[in-house]
Amino acid sequence: MALLDIEGLSVRFKTSSGLFAAVEGVDINVDRGEVWSIVGESGSGKSVSMLATMGLLPWTAQVTADKMTFDGQDLQQLSSRQRRRIVGGEMSMIFQEPMSSLNPCFTVGTQIDEMIKQHLGGSRKERHERALDLLAQVGIPDPARRIKAYPHQLSGGMSQRVMIAMAISCNPRLLIADEPTTALDVTIQAQILELLLRLQEDTGMALILITHDMGVVAETAKHVVVQYAGRQVEKQDVKSLFANPRHPYTEALLSALPERAGNQARLPTIPGVVPGQHDRPSGCLFNPRCQYATEHCREVEPVPAADDPARTLCHYPLEDGISPSPAAAGAAR
Ligand code: SF4
Ligand code: MG
Repeated sequence: MALLDIEGLSVRFKTSSGLFAAVEGVDINVDRGEVWSIVGESGSGKSVSMLATMGLLPWTAQVTADKMTFDGQDLQQLSSRQRRRIVGGEMSMIFQEPMSSLNPCFTVGTQIDEMIKQHLGGSRKERHERALDLLAQVGIPDPARRIKAYPHQLSGGMSQRVMIAMAISCNPRLLIADEPTTALDVTIQAQILELLLRLQEDTGMALILITHDMGVVAETAKHVVVQYAGRQVEKQDVKSLFANPRHPYTEALLSALPERAGNQARLPTIPGVVPGQHDRPSGCLFNPRCQYATEHCREVEPVPAADDPARTLCHYPLEDGISPSPAAAGAAR
């Protein structure tokens, strides 16, 4: 049984012009101790999918799924009290902006203590020991001093370490990290990723890393979900994905990696942007940006073929880097 088992997740928001499907048809099945990545540009619905899983979206969001279980418990059937016990405890999440996720009015120690008190309990002394231990685990020097610090006294990297300490304070079995390094300096980014992977290995927790960066995916994940405009466009293990991307969007993301772009003066980028609520094209949502798009793509929304394990959302999934699309014949490759 998968630890987190989600099928057909959809999230709709009520807007003045009707319901907007921010996420549609996302499947993710994470086993114990696995490292997954959800990748896509901003606006791909990565955070919304995971916030929906955590039950952290505002009430205006309509979340539905064919299946949504954590360790066999149906998340959709839990009372909000039962759900709160899981969220932040067995399943926890860290966010992109550590500075704004910490409460500026309380010390680091108080904030960690609050998490432990809520989910694990214990005496004041035990909780204090645990907090010191956690700060040491996430590589904060001189925990006895830092525990008394306020968030503004910490650098971005230190704040993210504190957020990670809080997120692992209750021994989660699943940690979701939403772009945990995007707001940080490049050198710090690598350290934070290393820290997350080390903690994952030491504790055996499962990890879902949300990122827009294929480089991060290559260095961390074993399994990858690629999302575009709220749709899951393919799902593969990381080796197969890098060797044989099936969706043209994945191929485009990969070709923007510095090591793939070779010594071109400028890194290739994917022209255009992820369509928003008001400019969704008909047919395949990627068609305005896809080099293989045909008339058929502009008219008919693709569905994954039943026999495709990658569940590629494309009329012409790539095989060994070649697209069978009629437009591919004329496309520069
Ligand atoms: Fe490109 Fe067509 Fe596939 Fe969409 S369905 S990704 S437009 S080839
Ligand atoms: Mg996001």
